[in-house]
Amino acid sequence: MRILILPNEDGTPLHATRNLVQEARDAYDLARTIFKREANVKLISYGSHPRVEVLDVKPPKAALEPRCRNPFSDGFGEAAWFYLANKQYSVSTIFLGNGAPISAFIVRAIENDTKVGCSPGAVSDTIVVSLRGLTIPNSDDVGPTTIASTTLAHEIGHSCGLNYMAFQEHSDKKNNLMFHSQGTRGTNLNRLQVAGLRNSRFVTYL
Ligand SMILES: [Zn+2]
Repeated sequence: MRILILPNEDGTPLHATRNLVQEARDAYDLARTIFKREANVKLISYGSHPRVEVLDVKPPKAALEPRCRNPFSDGFGEAAWFYLANKQYSVSTIFLGNGAPISAFIVRAIENDTKVGCSPGAVSDTIVVSLRGLTIPNSDDVGPTTIASTTLAHEIGHSCGLNYMAFQEHSDKKNNLMFHSQGTRGTNLNRLQVAGLRNSRFVTYL
C-alpha cells in the first residue's frame, strides 16, 4: 500500500505543527503488526516507494474534505477524480487482478469531521483517513504501538472485504479490528475474517 498525505489547497502543510509523516508511519506500522500477527499477511509499501509521502499538488477542497457516502457512486466528482489521478497504479494488476496496491489519502476532515476514515465500497483500492483519525489511540494492548490509531488498519480491512463476508459491515466484538467505535476498538481478527482477508485481491502469494 501507499499512504499519501494531501497538502492544503494552497500547497501548505495540512497541519501547521503536527508531524503527519511520522503519525502516518506509526499507523502503517500498527497495521503491519496487526495483519502479520492476526492473518500472517505482510503489509508492504508498493514498489520502491517510501510508505508515506506528501503529495506535491494543490488539491481541491472536495478532496480535502470528502463525504463518506461512496464518492464514486454519485458520479465522478472532484474528489473522486483527484484520488484517481493520484493513487498508486500497478501494471501487474491489469493482468493478474491480485496483489493490487491500496492507496490511503490523509485528508483534513471527512463528512464535516463526523467520520475519521472511509473506504468507499467493500473492495475499493482507495481509502481516506482524516487528521483526527490518525490520532485516536487504540485501547488494545499491542505493546509499543498502542499509541497509534487503528483507523488506517480498520479501513484497510474494509478494502479487503471485511466484514462483509459475515454479512455485516462491522463486528460487534469490542476487541475486534472491525468493531465500529473508535478508541474502544481492539485489533483482533476472527477465522472468517482472516480467510476473507487472505482471499482479497490486495493479498498475493509470492
Ligand atoms: Zn468501519
